[in-house]
Amino acid sequence: MNFQTIFNQKLPSVEALAPGRVNLLGEHTDYNDGFVLPTAIPQQTIVQIGLSDDRMYHFYSENLDERVDIREESFRAGEMQEEYARYIFGCIQVLKEVGYTISPINLYVKSSVPLGSGLSSSAALEVATLRGIRQLFNLPINDVEIAQFAQKAEIQYAHVQCGIMDQMASSLADTEHMLFLDTRTLERRILPLPEGAKIVVIESGVPRTLAGSGYNERRAECEQAAQLLGVKALRDITDVNLVETLPEPLRRRARHVVTENNRVLEALQNVETQTRHVSSLQQFGELMNASHASLRDDYEVSVPALDTLVDILQKTPGVFGARLTGAGFGGATVALVAAGEEKNIAEQVLEQYNHAGYTGNILVGA
Ligand code: ADP
Ligand code: MG
Repeated sequence: MNFQTIFNQKLPSVEALAPGRVNLLGEHTDYNDGFVLPTAIPQQTIVQIGLSDDRMYHFYSENLDERVDIREESFRAGEMQEEYARYIFGCIQVLKEVGYTISPINLYVKSSVPLGSGLSSSAALEVATLRGIRQLFNLPINDVEIAQFAQKAEIQYAHVQCGIMDQMASSLADTEHMLFLDTRTLERRILPLPEGAKIVVIESGVPRTLAGSGYNERRAECEQAAQLLGVKALRDITDVNLVETLPEPLRRRARHVVTENNRVLEALQNVETQTRHVSSLQQFGELMNASHASLRDDYEVSVPALDTLVDILQKTPGVFGARLTGAGFGGATVALVAAGEEKNIAEQVLEQYNHAGYTGNILVGA
């Protein structure tokens, strides 16, 4: 299947790409106005777009083998069963809301980012779609605005209460650079990945079944904690001792967010003052290890499979640090490992993990 055969149109007018992302540090901080440190992964989403010639919108996802044909009126009313079409529809709608004219399109999407693994296929879909539309209709919007439109589309039309990290990472980072982002002010820095290290990402093989409900519950707990502490968001607390006054489980939830924000700032300082010395990689890795412990014990979003995989990673020579990445409850792990050894390490870890009765998958590093 391809654009030509699906839409019976010669060639797409534009093609646009956007990567998935993996978060190195700063988990569950973005909806607390905090700090994050993601990088792009090599897997990408590709969209091909042409103008529709029959006043209908036509979408096709190669990953889902799902086609959507919808009339302009029904499109405006948001009447579509296919969940994925809401992400694309949302991107078009948020542009229309600010006054851009977007005529009906044919859009073909394919992606090597795994869907629903916590590596942000949703943001990659939105950012690729918005980039393609920007190109096709010559819209004067920049990459930060693309991320903002993408987040708005996901919240308002796909009904996912997401922060802005994923969309900013997909829009601004690449595989050689990470993005430090202050999610409150959008102050950001693009930084090279730590010298002498590579990223390894392994999927746990455990679906994120409770991710939706767990995520919403944690969000609500954080809001409650912020309210009790009299601040706008937990980002405003930097002294971890202040959370001790909170009742459980809010105390531990808040402690994770406060310490996690501090870890991101420490990592930023680490990278900015990098000494090319292995000790600075070890320091970065220790922050990742501490992040995992905090997510497991205080935030309680890990599961046995992720703990097992992280434990194996942390015990493997050449690994500086490892943690679960994404919202948790399943999904993937990220590790910082010695450059040149990533393939060996990833394969060795996968073998041990599978031996423990799981079915993992190396996504980055092999
Ligand atoms: P993640 O962003 O971590 O992959 P989400 O649950 O946020 O997980 O987003 C996954 C959803 O995004 C899918 O269920 C689907 O609706 C949509 N999606 C992302 N990429 C594609 C694609 N290539 N084709 C169709 N739908 C996609
Ligand atoms: Mg997503």
